[in-house]
Amino acid sequence: MTQALEPLIYDMSVAGRTGALLPALDVPESPLPKDLLRTTLDLPEVSELQVMRHFVRLSHLNHSIDTGFYPLGSCTMKYNPKVNEDAARLPGFAQLHPRTDDEGAQGALALMYQLQTWLGEISGFQAVSLAPAAGAQGEFAGILMIRKYHLDRGDTKRTKILVPNSAHGTNPATVSMAGFEAVELPSDQNGDVDLEALRAACDDTIAGMMITVPSTLGLFEGHILDVIKAVHDCGGLMYMDGANMNALMGVVKPGELGFDVMHYNLHKTFSTPHGGGGPGSGPVGVNDKLKPFLPGPVVEIVDAGNDEEPPLYGLKMPEKSIGRLKAFYGNFGMHVRAYTYIGIHGDTGIKDITRYAVLNANYIRVKLRDTYRVPYDRICAHEFVLEGHFEDVENVHALDISKRLMDYGIHPPTNYFPLIVPEALMIEPTETEDKATLDEFIDVMKKIAAEAHQDADLLRTAPHTAPVKRLDEVRAAKQLVLCCRPLPEWAAGD
Ligand SMILES: *Cc1c(COP(=O)(O)O)cnc(C)c1O
Repeated sequence: MTQALEPLIYDMSVAGRTGALLPALDVPESPLPKDLLRTTLDLPEVSELQVMRHFVRLSHLNHSIDTGFYPLGSCTMKYNPKVNEDAARLPGFAQLHPRTDDEGAQGALALMYQLQTWLGEISGFQAVSLAPAAGAQGEFAGILMIRKYHLDRGDTKRTKILVPNSAHGTNPATVSMAGFEAVELPSDQNGDVDLEALRAACDDTIAGMMITVPSTLGLFEGHILDVIKAVHDCGGLMYMDGANMNALMGVVKPGELGFDVMHYNLHKTFSTPHGGGGPGSGPVGVNDKLKPFLPGPVVEIVDAGNDEEPPLYGLKMPEKSIGRLKAFYGNFGMHVRAYTYIGIHGDTGIKDITRYAVLNANYIRVKLRDTYRVPYDRICAHEFVLEGHFEDVENVHALDISKRLMDYGIHPPTNYFPLIVPEALMIEPTETEDKATLDEFIDVMKKIAAEAHQDADLLRTAPHTAPVKRLDEVRAAKQLVLCCRPLPEWAAGD
């Protein structure tokens, strides 16, 4: 593994070399307590330039959206305009202390209020809370609200939540975490919810349904209004997983379709950067029924102001709130980025985002459907799923295709998800890629299909050009090695 990290920074070490220049002492020197000091500290002695090159070189070993195409389905790895970063770093935002009282934080509160309002408008909901720190946490908040809504009415029979088998994996997990039983619904041959199975499952033990729209097949549910009606008719509430709103914005408002609650992923749809465990933001939008249960705090106007005075904003806990999900107010830096993105795009720009996201995905789907099997070959939303294997080539799997893509400088699509498609490769180009990039990807995918037929081992042994070869992915995640020196024996073994 370390081979790729050559030259090791430890090998560059020269005794006495230093990369730090400290100013002369302007206070009397006083010795540090000896027993607290380590006698040896095995750090490389290198210059500032060597340190800089070392870390920049390491950073280049990673694929990133700033360095290459990243069609990772469902994750919306799109370009994040740098102006968002400038806005988030404005000292008035970045250095605002979270304990500042409302009066001293009016600018930040005004921004949050506007963002709540915009998100509500985009999705047709009456109220929004920015508190959740991730999509999955937004889901959790949404299901807890549904739970509290039923309990608040004294309805304790409802213990189940319906989840289609084309839902995102976090949906059934959320249902279980919130103390409900997840009831899986099959899909029909078009990839839509099987309406008969749904109607058969609806009774007074159903608290609601959690549906990912577009589904993980990249499809807009064909009979969405029937689905919503069936669940509402038995007294359940409808949750929409809206992580991928870049397929719907400006075209469909989930609140107007009849959904009761939905989460957004600011760190997907609204371009705030993500990946690698960085901060996220998963606001929830609700209709009037669920408004009192929102997680808090939310920003409200406490004094409307007048011609001379601007409105006064304040933080409030909703009346029957499910409570707090996170310290303070959610990930404020992400709110600033999303605000900037929406503000710059405006009405028509927001609609264009959706149109290009959908156009780009359909373009690739149509160009590749003669080379790869596309099981649900109908107009898709922002992504689509193809099968990463070939009838006439044995033992070539989706993973082999993905790994081979890396040799061409392209990040693999999402693998083996959704589970209902064999050898699934879920491809999401996003709206920020141009036609040339899409064409290049299509070419590479065709080349790889040809390679599979001529020299399948090329795929099975890929990647060939990446700094590390094919890893045991489970072990690599569980036993992450963050060390630039050869591993000691105790750590290298099993
Ligand atoms: C990404 C995603 C989630 C989860 O969002 P996180 O911020 O990763 O927790 C949920 N549902 C769908 C459809 C997603 O794409």
